[in-house]
Amino acid sequence: MSHTPSRRTVLRGLTAGGLTATGAAVIGFTPATRSWATTASAAGPGALVGTPPLDGSLTTDESSLAAASDDFGHIVHRRPAAVLRPGSVGDVVAMVRFCRTHRLPVAPRGQGHATNGQAQVAGGLVIETAPLADIGPVGPDSTTVTVGAGVRWSEVAKATIPHGLTPPVFTDYLELSVGGTLSVGGLGGQTHRHGAQVDNVTELQVVTGAGEFVRCSRSRRPDLFHAVLAGLGQCAVIVGATVRLVPAPETVRHYLLPYDDLETFLDDQRTLVREGRFDYVEGQVAADADGAFRVPTLEAVAYGPPVGPAPDDTVLLRGLRHNASGVQRADLSYYDFLDRLAPAVAALKEAGLWSYAHPWLNLLLPGRSAAALASRMLDTLTPADLGGPGLVLVYPLLRDRLTTPLLRTPDDPVPYLFALLRATPPEDTATVDRLLTANRSAYELTTAAGGTRYPVGSIPVSRADWRAHFGPEWRRLERAKRAYDPQGILVPGQGVF
Ligand SMILES: Cc1cc2nc3c(=O)[nH]c(=O)nc-3n(C[C@H](O)[C@H](O)[C@H](O)COP(=O)(O)OP(=O)(O)OC[C@H]3O[C@@H](n4cnc5c(N)ncnc54)[C@H](O)[C@@H]3O)c2cc1C
Repeated sequence: MSHTPSRRTVLRGLTAGGLTATGAAVIGFTPATRSWATTASAAGPGALVGTPPLDGSLTTDESSLAAASDDFGHIVHRRPAAVLRPGSVGDVVAMVRFCRTHRLPVAPRGQGHATNGQAQVAGGLVIETAPLADIGPVGPDSTTVTVGAGVRWSEVAKATIPHGLTPPVFTDYLELSVGGTLSVGGLGGQTHRHGAQVDNVTELQVVTGAGEFVRCSRSRRPDLFHAVLAGLGQCAVIVGATVRLVPAPETVRHYLLPYDDLETFLDDQRTLVREGRFDYVEGQVAADADGAFRVPTLEAVAYGPPVGPAPDDTVLLRGLRHNASGVQRADLSYYDFLDRLAPAVAALKEAGLWSYAHPWLNLLLPGRSAAALASRMLDTLTPADLGGPGLVLVYPLLRDRLTTPLLRTPDDPVPYLFALLRATPPEDTATVDRLLTANRSAYELTTAAGGTRYPVGSIPVSRADWRAHFGPEWRRLERAKRAYDPQGILVPGQGVF
């Protein structure tokens, strides 16, 4: 299971600041494996001499470099040589061309909410996308909206909802950048109806690794379009995206339905997504008083007018096998529902828990073995392994709604997202390493059963794992990488190439 980086440049990358916080080997992976190989070089002193004139700024101050050497995971730390705050798309073009010429690695960074150094780059350039903040015109008849890659989904929602419109799919947490979620997929409780966020993009505006600005879509440069959506930043920097809009409800009815056992919970979730009875379906599994993870709660939301009829409990809950005594029901404004995590996030920040390390495990299980796999992983999970602020998420998707080739899902009509959103004090590096090892074991168990990883978490993987992950799409991605990022400068932190 070991993986040996073959290039001298990797070692230079490591000495330039690529060591992980914990430094120790993980199940046969060397620290070098956790600080990814790159075909581009890490910058030495003076590497950024002779940069082009910019509308924005190129900064090397300590606090900017420190911020770009960290992320929501707080596990991996790689120090870039500089951070670009672009004043225009032209700045992205100019600096990617500069980095291509000098073979310096580059990574765009949205909100830095990856958990394993995916947006970090040792000795290279981090491009902060937040200044790419335009939100195109929206009117009541709009069918799409074009937004800058650095715009957060909360801002998209706030711009469209007043016109009675909304993107069809949201992540649970809204403060993620559009470019950041489109580079991974973007899954949520609406995915069973509308696919992932990447399935709802009609055009991308990108800067390739060759430094070319290109507009691409399903009909225009489709090879590039399909290499960028869920493409982990390997072929181009997304600078803007045109996203589909659908009518928004004014209010929604939100249910929390407790279950007595995992299998019935999973079965009812499957029934609901197959029927399309609700607009949103997710679920969580909590620990009981003995610390055993066997308390599932199904979360379901029905949209009210003008999208759906006034919600009717009798119709919506008919035939479900939840424990009727513990049902929680609330009517919420649509935005309050989308932004439902905000109060909890504020409380976690206040308590200092938001800055914990997050060695997250994010998997997609084949529906046929979801109960067996989830039980096996939950049976060995302890509250300490999840952490106080941690969460177990489980919900089904419908595969025929997922059409983006690089978003790899199990070959099963109803795959389940299974996520252990772990949180643990970052200074306890032994625990972080133990949890990373546990993540690797769960990944191996899942892939052996035909499952995949959803690549936002912290699972130590090798390039061979990536090749297996992309399966039949690997050759196409490799071809696109050669064509659009010929020097291999883009996003080494994903460890794909
Ligand atoms: C609290 C929380 C809740 C989450 N909830 C969900 C959820 O419900 N559903 C879900 O699907 N995911 C969820 N995620 C995962 C999240 O979608 C991904 O981690 C996403 O990539 C983070 O977006 P970001 O803007 O922080 O990206 P960053 O962490 O900044 O970047 C992530 C990766 O994308 C690349 N990238 C960033 N911007 C661009 C760009 N413009 N062009 C090309 N590549 C780019 C980076 O180089 C990096 O490799 C959640 C994460 C957190 C921390």
